[in-house]
Amino acid sequence: MTKDWKKKIDEEEKAREAEVEKSKKEFLESARRERVVKVQELGRKFKCHICDKPAREPMRESIELRMGLDTYHEDGDNWSKPKDLYQCVNCRNWTCAEHIYKGICQRCAEKM
Ligand SMILES: [Zn+2]
Ligand SMILES: [Zn+2]
Repeated sequence: MTKDWKKKIDEEEKAREAEVEKSKKEFLESARRERVVKVQELGRKFKCHICDKPAREPMRESIELRMGLDTYHEDGDNWSKPKDLYQCVNCRNWTCAEHIYKGICQRCAEKM
């Protein structure tokens, strides 16, 4: 019987590890799902006005965080701006990389 009590400890340890592993996976899964929803929203809000290609990525920006009297900056996702669409300097419409050149969209370029 001397071996059994050690085995029990091993099993309990294993069960605990599995529990931690499971909650880690659940956390990652819910973060991933949340991101998918946010990407869909971003795509609905921002589309290339020429080909209708939706934005797939949020802008990465340095975000100001306040901790008491200190402020510091951290890179974060800005979901109110797309990273993979560009605003035409002329018509201010969102445009994908294919339809913009040097800040001017194809539609404005054709009117020039
Ligand atoms: Zn486009
Ligand atoms: Zn334009």
